[in-house]
Amino acid sequence: MSLTQLESARQGRITEAMKQVAADESMDVELLRSRIAEGKVVVPANVNRLATRFCGVGQGLRTKVNANLGTSMDMASVENELKKLDAAVRAGADAVMDLSTGGDLRAVRRAVMEACPVTVGSVPIYEAAALAARKHRNVTRMTGDDMLEAVRTHCRDGVDFVTVHCGVTREVIQWLRRRPRVCDIVSRGGTFLEAWIETNGQENPLYERFDEVMDICREFDVTLSLGDGLRPGALADACDPAQIAELQVLSELARRAIDGGVQVMLEGPGHVPLAQVQTQIRLQKEMTGGLPFYVLGPIVTDVAPGYDHITSAIGGAIAAAAGADFLCYVTPSEHLSLPNAEDVWTGVVATRIAAHAADIAKGLPGAADWDRRMSEARAAQDWKTQIELCIDPHLAQQKRSAGKSQNEDVCSMCGDYCVFKVRKDRAIGVRKP
Ligand code: SF4
Repeated sequence: MSLTQLESARQGRITEAMKQVAADESMDVELLRSRIAEGKVVVPANVNRLATRFCGVGQGLRTKVNANLGTSMDMASVENELKKLDAAVRAGADAVMDLSTGGDLRAVRRAVMEACPVTVGSVPIYEAAALAARKHRNVTRMTGDDMLEAVRTHCRDGVDFVTVHCGVTREVIQWLRRRPRVCDIVSRGGTFLEAWIETNGQENPLYERFDEVMDICREFDVTLSLGDGLRPGALADACDPAQIAELQVLSELARRAIDGGVQVMLEGPGHVPLAQVQTQIRLQKEMTGGLPFYVLGPIVTDVAPGYDHITSAIGGAIAAAAGADFLCYVTPSEHLSLPNAEDVWTGVVATRIAAHAADIAKGLPGAADWDRRMSEARAAQDWKTQIELCIDPHLAQQKRSAGKSQNEDVCSMCGDYCVFKVRKDRAIGVRKP
């Protein structure tokens, strides 16, 4: 069995994946290796796949962006998923997750992985639940073996990281019962497991058999993404005892994973009031000793369906500036429908904006240089460079062309009153009244 990136790093070995990530991030490879050895950086890299572009997640690295893809029971076209994948990659996603629940799940996953040049993640329990629903018409009839087998299947198929909801334990659920929530559990994996635990009267197999989960991940060097099955799905539910109890369990499991040579990151909320975002990130970092943190959003107000790429970008920027390492996008279709390719594009761009703004706030070397070059091009009225430097050059060009001014140097907003033009003309003394 080959060494995981974490085991290699501990032995002082520098892998090809580490070299590529270090070069991409302009980080000394030895520093990167030492952070991987400590568990503060992960490089998801399944030995059965090896993505074209590896992606490092964690301390001192650029904030990464994930796009969730996947079929539903109502929309199960592989072709659509490949269009969404193409949109995500072109928009600059660092990773995608296949969260399919409809159609031939294995065929969709394999098609996505074959076409995907970036890191791929998945949630194996969706497949175990879907198979149980088809076979028994009841997701709670899946067995612990079914759950473990789904993890193995996904790892063998080559996914680079898997979300496993190991923290939804009987004790954590008791916390939820003691203080009921507005939206109860909103994670699909969390909901399946809570129903399974309550129906079968047994402990969560992904928690009880965590050593087996680790063994599978170690074999394929799959990064564990410890899912927050009890993430708040309403502002009113944020930071309640159940969420914190689950975080405590996940922190302990994460330490076990690192000790066992398995790369690991933790997942986070969800819906969180703006004033709590920073606290939640700091709490997680404190409880885990600085392990990589992967957040969904967070969404900072519940009232903007249709614009949740914006609510989540606001939360994501604050979360990443406070130390979150990996942002899962949210699209304009969140809470409303399965996203299409256009939603995917919009969601990735919005999240990249949040990530970049946070990287500047974090003082990441080189992050602010991009903005400086844009500002210099703006001051010089160098429109070609401005468009090239835009996070979405196509949209920028479209807007500029749609409202063209008679004067090529300016835009139709201020025309001849353009501050840059006025300043320039005054300097050379040719300004006309
Ligand atoms: S015309 Fe106005 S909005 Fe357009 S570039 Fe000049 S100052 Fe900016």
